Amino acid sequence: LFITFEGPEGAGKTTIIQKVAKEMENGGIDVVLTREPGGIQISEQIRQVILDPANTAMDARTEALLYAAARRQHLVEKVIPALKKGAIVLCDRFIDSSLAYQGHARGLGMDEVLSINQFAIQELMPDKTLYFDIEPEIGLKRIEAHTGREVNRLDLEKVTFHHKVREGYKILLERFPERITSIDASASLHTVYEETVAIIEKLLVK
Ligand code: C5P
Ligand code: MG
Repeated sequence: LFITFEGPEGAGKTTIIQKVAKEMENGGIDVVLTREPGGIQISEQIRQVILDPANTAMDARTEALLYAAARRQHLVEKVIPALKKGAIVLCDRFIDSSLAYQGHARGLGMDEVLSINQFAIQELMPDKTLYFDIEPEIGLKRIEAHTGREVNRLDLEKVTFHHKVREGYKILLERFPERITSIDASASLHTVYEETVAIIEKLLVK
């Protein structure tokens, strides 16, 4: 079972996914927690290139290709082997981030970004995607309050960019209504967590 966590900045994806993974582990479930871009050495190295605040010259297509490359390597090295041994893979961001950020917000076009990603993933789509929905203003405020977070190139983007990202995710929700479930991430951490667990539990009994 391949489950991805999506949403704009400050939605709480990382906090929730870590809590969920820990709970599942405690319950004796074989779970692999990972993230994108990253998760393995080559992809973490690509992540550094993409997110380096000094790389202001990065072209949007270059960015999209680097995400797709990081995604490919991460799938081959970590996700696919984990799924093969029967583990449940929880991934912090995946293809929908590329479609929302590079496809919609950067304006490359969702279909174009989808096509380079199809080359990268060879049909390995998530079984379920949880979309953590939050107003960009609230999300960005949460990030400001969270001092331990690494600074990255996307932090330089204006709030309008983040509105576009959210708009992109809304389009994806309409396009993939079966796969993607939306969760109101403006609620308390406890509420968001409970809702997340309820959705995953349903998948596990299937
Ligand atoms: O999920 P996380 O906060 O670690 O993501 C790192 C940064 O990469 C974020 O600022 C996110 O907006 C950005 N990103 C992006 N395009 C993607 C995936 C992530 O701009 N496809
Ligand atoms: Mg995060």
